[in-house]
Formats: sequence, structure tokens, C-alpha cells
Amino acid sequence: MKLISACLLGVKCRWDGEANRDDRALELVAKEILLPVCPEQLGGLSTPRARQEIRGGAGKEVLEKKAKVITENGDDITEQFIKGAEETLKIARLYQVKEFLGKSLSPSCYCSKIYDGKFSGKLICGRGVTAELLMRNGITIRGEKDL
Ligand code: SF4
Repeated sequence: MKLISACLLGVKCRWDGEANRDDRALELVAKEILLPVCPEQLGGLSTPRARQEIRGGAGKEVLEKKAKVITENGDDITEQFIKGAEETLKIARLYQVKEFLGKSLSPSCYCSKIYDGKFSGKLICGRGVTAELLMRNGITIRGEKDL
């Protein structure tokens, strides 16, 4: 059993109310049990919502209160991101999940690169907030590009 970013399975939970449907992820549904989660919705954010990026670091720094998650309108939604990560971890523990397939470039779900926090399209190395919390708790993080 694995957790997966719900948007990869066609769930319209993305910030703009759309999905990031990925055929490779959908093919996996026939082979194993995938639990879809959207940490941003689990944190209480609505859909659609304003675009958001991590300012001042990555998921690690957000969990250490050294960076914030800010929307393109300037709202601070750091607490919702942390809550969403914690709720996702709760689900992972309930089902004893050991792997998470995260949507690439997401400030919540991804494990490798994220946007730089300036809404400039530039990427930096670092994990999203949920990916970071799950990894700290022994869960392997993979991106859909690894499928
Ligand atoms: Fe997809 Fe994760 Fe963003 Fe939700 S938080 S829309 S699951 S990438």
C-alpha cells in the first residue's frame, strides 16, 4: 500500500481546481493499493485556491519555522501546510504506509525540486512540506517521474 498525491489520479484538487492526471500512476491502481491524499486540502485550504510557494527555504525550513508558505496574494498559509503534512502522516501511520508517490514540483508533495518562492518559475533543490515530514518519519518519497 502506498500514499499518492490525489491529483496524479485525476482528482481535481490542484490550486486551480484541475488535476495532474498521470497515466503511469493510473496504471499502478490495477497493481497495488494506492491511498490518494491532498495535503493542502487536508490542511484546510479550499479548492480552487491561490498559487503558493515556500519563501525562505523548503519543507525542512518550514517545519523548523525558518521559512513560510506564501500565496501569490501575499497571504501566509504556513500553518495550513503544516497541518496538512501532519494529517497526511496520520493517515500513513494508520495504514502503516512506507512509501509516498508525490507530484513533482509541489510545495507540499515533492521530494527533489520546488519553486524558489518568488513566483519566478525558478527551481531550487528541496522537498515540499509534507514530503519532508513523511521522510523524517521513515517513509520513502518518490516522484511520479520515478514511475
Ligand atoms: Fe496534488 Fe499534493 Fe498539490 Fe494536493 S497538495 S494538489 S495532492 S500536489
